[in-house]
Parts: sequence; C-alpha cells; structure tokens
Amino acid sequence: MRVSVFGATGSIGESTFDLLARRDDIQAVALTGGRNVARLAEQARSLGAEIAVTAHDDCYAALKEALAGSGVEAAAGTQALIDAADRPADWVMSAIVGAAGLAPGFRALAQGATLALANKESLVTAGPLMMAEAARHDARILPVDSEHSAVFQALVGEDTGAVERVIIPASGGPFRDWSLERLEHATLAEAMTHPNWSMGQRITIDSASLFNKALELIETREFFGFEPDQIEAVIHPQSIIHALVGFRDGALMAHLGAPDMRHAIGYALNWPDRAKLPVARLDLAAIGALQFEAPDPVRFPALRLARAVMEMRGHAGAAFNAAKEVALDEFIAGRLRYLDMARLVERTIDQLLTDSCLTAPVTTLETVQAMDQMAREAARTLVLRMA
Ligand code: NDP
Repeated sequence: MRVSVFGATGSIGESTFDLLARRDDIQAVALTGGRNVARLAEQARSLGAEIAVTAHDDCYAALKEALAGSGVEAAAGTQALIDAADRPADWVMSAIVGAAGLAPGFRALAQGATLALANKESLVTAGPLMMAEAARHDARILPVDSEHSAVFQALVGEDTGAVERVIIPASGGPFRDWSLERLEHATLAEAMTHPNWSMGQRITIDSASLFNKALELIETREFFGFEPDQIEAVIHPQSIIHALVGFRDGALMAHLGAPDMRHAIGYALNWPDRAKLPVARLDLAAIGALQFEAPDPVRFPALRLARAVMEMRGHAGAAFNAAKEVALDEFIAGRLRYLDMARLVERTIDQLLTDSCLTAPVTTLETVQAMDQMAREAARTLVLRMA
C-alpha cells in the first residue's frame, strides 16, 4: 500500500508513523513536517519515503543535509508540500494542524486516494467542498478524530435515516470545575494540562476551552450530514466513551476505548478490516464508573458559538476557525486572556455577519481562503481594541 503522511512530525503524525513502522507492506511516498526537520528526516529514512517536505523554505538546507545519502528527495515550501499530495498514494493521512491542512487534503482526494482525516479544520471550513471533491473523484474520506471514527463505526450496517441523535463527549478538560471568576485568570500552563489525552499544544488548549469540541460538533454536521438539533455534546471526564449514536427505537450505541489515537488511526488504516492494534484493552471493573454532565454554556461559550455556526453554515465555519486560530495565537503569546478567546471569536463573527458572504454557500476553495483571511484581519483588528 502506498502511503503519504501530512504532518508526520506531530502528535497524530507520530502515532501514524508508529503504526506504519510495524507493517511490512507499506511503501511510503511523501512525509511532510514543519520545523522539526531532524525528526522528519529520521522518519523518512526509516520508512524509505520517496520525498520529505518541510513547509518552511528556511528549513530546506537542514532537511537536505539530514537526508544526505538516504535516497530520499528533499523539498520545502507551501507549494512543494501541496504538490507532494499529487504523488499517487492509496492512503493519505491529513494531520497538519490548522487551515494549512486543507489544500493538501483536497489534492489527495483529486488523485482518488483514501483520505484519513485528522485535520478537523478541513471539514469545518470547507465541508461541502471536501465531500463533493471526494464524490467527484470516487475517493473516500475516513474520519480520524476519535469521536467521528466512533460515530462512523457505530453506523456500520445502519440506516443513517434511523439516527435520532449523535452525542459527542467532551472530557471537560482541566477547567471542568472552575468558576467563571477563576476562568478569567486561567493561564497558558493551566490550559496545557489535559487530564486524559497527550496531544499537540494547539489542540490541548482548544480542548481546555472546548473550542476543540465546538470544531467537532461542526465536523459531525459536515461529515455525516446530521441536522444541528441532532448533535449534542456531553461532559464525560473519563474520555472512555468516544461517541454515542441514538436511533429512533431508543437504542444508544456507544463506542468505548482507551484514549489512544492509534485506535482511530489504525481503524482508518485497515478499513474495512479490523487489524490487531497495539492499544491498551479496557478493564471495565477497574474503571468502575463513568460520569456524565451537561456542559455549561456560560463557562464554555465555544459550544454555543458552534451551534450558531452549524445553523449559519456557508462560510461561517471558515470565519469561526480563523478567528479561533487568531485568538489562540494571542492567548499563547500572552496578549489575550483565556475567556477573551471566545469573546474575540464571537465579535469577529458578529462583525462579519453584516457582510452577506458569511452565509453564502461554499463553492470554491478560493472563497473559503478569502473568508479565512478576512476573518483573521477582522480578529486581529478587534484584538487591538480589546487590549
Ligand atoms: P501537532 O501540532 O502535534 O502537529 C502538527 C503537524 O503539522 C506537525 O507535523 C507540524 O510540523 C505540522 N505543521 C505545523 N504547521 C504547519 C504548516 N503551517 N504547514 C505545514 N505543516 C505544519 O498537531 P496534532 O498532531 O495534535 O494535530 C494535527 C491535526 O489533527 C489537527 O487538526 C488536530 O485538530 C487534529 N487532531 C488531533 C488529535 C490529537 O490527539 N493530537 C485528535 C484528533 C484530531 P512541525 O512539528 O515539524 O513543526
């Protein structure tokens, strides 16, 4: 099987690499990364990839040197990274973080590859386009986000018309019990301590603010086509249940597993088969009890904003994601307080709502990218006013 991994040096990329390295039927095509060129070169050598690509031009010399004598081609820059997705592959992992993951995923679909989609921003910003592109090229998108993989698995053999609701659990993160007053002063270090999952910095902070869950609700709508009122979130601190699907006969199908992304990645890698995976098996008696709570929309406004975006559709997802990325950058840089992230996103959407194209249907990648830029600019201007 010919395989490419976009975002190979990240948290999802490393878990994917771990599974690929255990197999002897893999021909690695393209591996891509950002600034961690030493690790990218190591992975490319180990898997015998055709090409390794760093997104940054200034990292080219270091990558080339690290690959010297390996026979692996080196390339750098955004365009080289996107072009790498044109190389024929049967299975492509989309695990770049942020909106930068959209274009390579699109190209991979255009050459008919099966796209294992971890990059949630792709569906949030350009869901209808991604699904149409897959259909046009007879390509398949397999969800890798653990919640969406769980929903996908619960739907095998089922009639989606019989689905009443989908429940997406959220751990509640490190701030689950914090008061609103305390949240006003939450720090970056506090937001970086996820109780259950080990992930990249950005998604860890998004998990604390529930912006990650907000993206997942929107992703659920775009991938499976359910209506907003069929999609719910519930706080489930143990992160043992990854999603539940409720059917019209009242049955609720839950997917349980250890919090290890190699399950969802492995499912997508082996689909439609199930292969033995190196993930921990659950000891239910040791776990003892599972808790559930209703999420508090006041302390976690991201969920309320997600619902508005699901209703608006059009380019609202692109604006939401871009404003959220700016808010996250500002929080990481110490220029925005924790709760101000949601305030910034809400104000950006409100401002762009006066512009009719926010709710216009998504028809091209260019309009999505234009909205992304417009929202980033609007958010950056608003940050200055909030300071
Ligand atoms: P990481 O931050 O750990 O890794 C991101 C990867 O993308 C790295 O390879 C990084 O390179 C590369 N990268 C960063 N910026 C750019 C850019 N501008 N252009 C090209 N490549 C870039 O992220 P995660 O692995 O945690 O997440 C990846 C995606 O998967 C996200 O969309 C996330 O929401 C989603 N996801 C993650 C889960 C998780 O458990 N981590 C769970 C479900 C979904 P380098 O490090 O070399 O700079």
